[in-house]
Amino acid sequence: MNIKEAKKIIVSLSKPDKMPGFAYGIPAAECKTGSKLRLIPNSVCAGCYALKGNYARFPAIVQAQYKRLESIQDPRWVEAMAVVISSQAPDMVNYRRKNHEYKRS
Ligand code: SF4
Repeated sequence: MNIKEAKKIIVSLSKPDKMPGFAYGIPAAECKTGSKLRLIPNSVCAGCYALKGNYARFPAIVQAQYKRLESIQDPRWVEAMAVVISSQAPDMVNYRRKNHEYKRS
């Protein structure tokens, strides 16, 4: 599978400023455990950040989140994500390989 085909299947990765790597944004509204925890005051999900601000303000962002969630149903998704991660973050893949080799020795 080539990168162009893989990117079409997974829709897109994002690069949040506050994170060291890439992210894959899916809708928090569909978060199964979180939808229960959000109703419990002071629970970890009570003030869910992913349901506020830019995540909820822009319809295009919400639409893209649902497209990504739907894309997970594609039987080629795992291979496609592996191709995209390998192409977008080779340093991270190499780091994990090295780390894995280190742990085995
Ligand atoms: S904080 Fe929000 S996105 Fe995170 S697990 Fe809870 S409900 Fe889901």
